[in-house]
Amino acid sequence: MARSRQPLIAGNWKMNGLRADALTLAKGVADGVRQAAWQDRAVLVCPPATLLAAVAESVKSSGVLVGGQNCHAKASGAHTGDVSAEMLRDCGASHVIVGHSERRADYGETDAIVRAKAEAAWRAGLVPIVCIGETLAEREAGKTLAVLEAQLRGSVPSGATAATLVVAYEPVWAIGTGKTPTTPEVAAAHAHIRGVLGSLTADAQSVRLLYGGSVNGRNAAELLAAGDVDGGLVGGASLKPDEFLAIAKSA
Ligand code: PEP
Repeated sequence: MARSRQPLIAGNWKMNGLRADALTLAKGVADGVRQAAWQDRAVLVCPPATLLAAVAESVKSSGVLVGGQNCHAKASGAHTGDVSAEMLRDCGASHVIVGHSERRADYGETDAIVRAKAEAAWRAGLVPIVCIGETLAEREAGKTLAVLEAQLRGSVPSGATAATLVVAYEPVWAIGTGKTPTTPEVAAAHAHIRGVLGSLTADAQSVRLLYGGSVNGRNAAELLAAGDVDGGLVGGASLKPDEFLAIAKSA
């Protein structure tokens, strides 16, 4: 039976790889995607900004999409060291991750900043992947669902639709730790997110919700089959083409 939401499997390479590594990784992913010829799922890789153009060129015509890991809210100007959504688009990106917890923690990115970045993505013709997720302390205080709701309300710009928004639920304590929520916990969080999106978007049932946090080749089939999960945002395991492709296959 056809699924109403096409799964998206996104690899967040973070600050890893020099040109030669990135091109080897990109070729591995592109070859696998070409061979699989999936019609029912999309595969995205998000390399460091310095490698985006080279990776986009290398995966051209394979069906693999390319995205940025962050963007500035402005299109251009005196913002030394920053990269705009327009620049990412110019390099071949179709998506951009905004509000990743590492950026929220390392650069103090607030929901308002994340929202402005999501709007910048739209301005440039990119789809933002808006990341939300609770810390361990928030989880232990029983605040997970309230935190997710507040982050969503603060970070998702008005006017979002399924065509212009992807949301990634990434519990902060699960990122890079090898720990994951249980499948029912993931399903409950995603159901809550979709419910909140009902008051923020016109077509919440069609918005893709990704799970992220220590997804690997062994746990992907179970985590990505949880209710209301439409794919994954994968960090560490996206640096190994075989494992990343196995995750994509299991979505
Ligand atoms: C991430 O950083 O988005 C992520 C999910 O990382 P990892 O898969 O390594 O936990």
